[in-house]
Amino acid sequence: MGDNKQKRRNRIIGIISLLILLIILTGCGKGQTSGDSGYSLADVTQTSYLMGTLVQAKVYAPTKEKGEEVLDTAFQQMDALEKKMSLNIPASEIIRVNEAAGSKPVQVSEDTFLVLQKGLEYSKLTEGSFDISIGPLVKLWGIGTDQARVPSADEIKQKLKLVDYQSVLLQPEGQQVYLEEEGMVLDVGGIAKGYAADVTKEIFQEAGIKHAYISIGGNVLVVGNKPDGSPWKIGIQNPYRPRGAYLAIVEVTDSTVVTSGDYERYFEENGVRYHHIIDPATGYPTRNGLKSVSIITHKSLNADALSTGVFVLGIERGLQLLERTPDVEGILITEDKEVYLTSGLQGKVRITDKEFSLAD
Ligand code: AMP
Ligand code: MG
Repeated sequence: MGDNKQKRRNRIIGIISLLILLIILTGCGKGQTSGDSGYSLADVTQTSYLMGTLVQAKVYAPTKEKGEEVLDTAFQQMDALEKKMSLNIPASEIIRVNEAAGSKPVQVSEDTFLVLQKGLEYSKLTEGSFDISIGPLVKLWGIGTDQARVPSADEIKQKLKLVDYQSVLLQPEGQQVYLEEEGMVLDVGGIAKGYAADVTKEIFQEAGIKHAYISIGGNVLVVGNKPDGSPWKIGIQNPYRPRGAYLAIVEVTDSTVVTSGDYERYFEENGVRYHHIIDPATGYPTRNGLKSVSIITHKSLNADALSTGVFVLGIERGLQLLERTPDVEGILITEDKEVYLTSGLQGKVRITDKEFSLAD
């Protein structure tokens, strides 16, 4: 029980640190700012706990009221997306699909269908290192829940049989989803936050917002540049330090920076860290020398899928995939505190923590 209290305390400390980090990086504080067009803009921030994490968004709007209205719409939309795709909300669309596994196809909303289509696309692209049907193993390990434990090799073997994205059938007509085997479980936890950020960006843009950001548990998407015309500065989390301590800074405009790391959700037993990113090839949490992978690109869903997928692929195969994928960059941090950058990022990432150095 003490453990749970500790976990909760750590989570609260984490959330506070994350807020402080965002404040540092974005120069927060309510008020009026002068945009590059010369017009005065009101900056409005909203924070909520959604999708199991802290969500914070900030917009620069013509008026405070307009900003609040846009943020309300965005948070309502994120709440609706969570209700469709969560594994923790009874009767979510994903749960209904899982319950019908091996028996019948289920019709889902356009949002869920799109996330699954993209999820399958990235499952193929990563040759199953990212696998949208990882659910049975995620459930078995229970990482981040009170039931977390190291399963037996036999249990893992049994669940591995149920993980295969090629047995997820999507029929665009009628937006039907069918899982071929009973016991299969879809889990969109590796991409749903990215999709939510993309949808939020659309809402901001439709409302005419030119400068904004959203952070979903530290995964950031920025719209435009800062109102003063400068790029946004995004911190890359130091995987060895409490939330909010960053090791590098990258400057971005109209982009997203999404990170997967072994420090996000885990437990430790006999000196081994069991974290929430499972290698579908072994059934165990990935262990390949990586501590975190950050992806920088334009679509947050793509970045989210790739951060999880590259984390599983490892340094060599992960970098190869990123180099041959257009318009995508990555920052890989190893256990030895080495920083690998894709070619498009060379000279663009400032390492601020002396313990880390660029890999050669
Ligand atoms: P992220 O934090 O984006 O890397 O996503 C991690 C989450 O994705 C986990 O909490 C699981 O819900 C899910 N997940 C874990 N391993 C995989 C995997 N190999 N492929 C796809 N999703 C995964
Ligand atoms: Mg991800």
